[in-house]
Amino acid sequence: MNAIAAVLRRAEQVHDLSRDELVFLLADHEYDREIFAAADRVRRKYVGDEVHLRGLIEFSNICRRNCFYCGLRAGNRGLGRYRLTPEEIIGLAQKGWEYGYKTVVLQSGEDEYYSVEKMCHIIKNIKRLGPVIALSIGEKTYAEYEAYKEAGAERYLIRIETTEKKLYEDLDPGMSHEKRKRCLNDLKKLGYEVGSGSLVGLPGQTIESLADDILYFREIGADMIGIGPFIPHEDTPLKAAKGGDFRLSLKVMALTRLLVPHINIPATTAMETLHRDGRAIALQSGANVVMPNITEGEYRKLYALYPGKACVDDTPGRCRECITAKIEGIGRTVV
Ligand code: SF4
Repeated sequence: MNAIAAVLRRAEQVHDLSRDELVFLLADHEYDREIFAAADRVRRKYVGDEVHLRGLIEFSNICRRNCFYCGLRAGNRGLGRYRLTPEEIIGLAQKGWEYGYKTVVLQSGEDEYYSVEKMCHIIKNIKRLGPVIALSIGEKTYAEYEAYKEAGAERYLIRIETTEKKLYEDLDPGMSHEKRKRCLNDLKKLGYEVGSGSLVGLPGQTIESLADDILYFREIGADMIGIGPFIPHEDTPLKAAKGGDFRLSLKVMALTRLLVPHINIPATTAMETLHRDGRAIALQSGANVVMPNITEGEYRKLYALYPGKACVDDTPGRCRECITAKIEGIGRTVV
């Protein structure tokens, strides 16, 4: 057995890789197939063949932040903005429950219209319907996270985006990497199941930095890690950037599965945007979750984090059928 085969075997069996080994595997493409196959075996061993669906409600595209890589940034004046009323959000969650989604993810920009009272009203009323509630609404105070938890939210998604402090703070003006990490710690302390993740292919991001991201995911004890390629948006300061590569993003995801074997890993929509079978390929390279969009009509287009987002012209019902067919098409089952 050559040295790299032995390294991969150790990664698969005892889930250990050094930073140097990660850097080598990320930079070299000769062993990609073996990495994806090993991640698929580890996924099967630890989380099985079932794929978890989480219905995503994108309830407001208004954001006070100005992240350079995001189409929802406040500085993007060309985007039509929307926000759903609490009753509309609860109505969509009801439909999601009827489509069979056992978890709904409430996602928005950092929109201050939704006070703690409004969010708690939404959470309590959705909770009464039955689903598990995951929030993805950005940086909040400890007291706010606590209030949402008491209202019934159980999961919270907040991506670290990159573990490289300078890169993060350069690309997210006015935001602090320390504060981001504090949010993750607060959420853990409050007993949330925490999801995080990163973007792959940001300008200035190095292979070493991607290796650090993977090691960070192992360190924080997250329940879910979502990894997506960075896709430049034409109405942002990064419009001329090269953007992330599908294969490298897939490899960061697969290596994350090898090092943190028991977690949930979504096959992200951004993967599907770069490759027409992106989610199916991701599901065969370590992923075990899909988050179909249950937002309706025009709003799907207006939640333009990045251009060309997959499935924006579909209906929620059609999305449910399409993703089920894709999952069953690769021999897996929907939970
Ligand atoms: S990444 Fe999130 S916080 Fe940053 S501008 Fe986009 S929606 Fe707002």
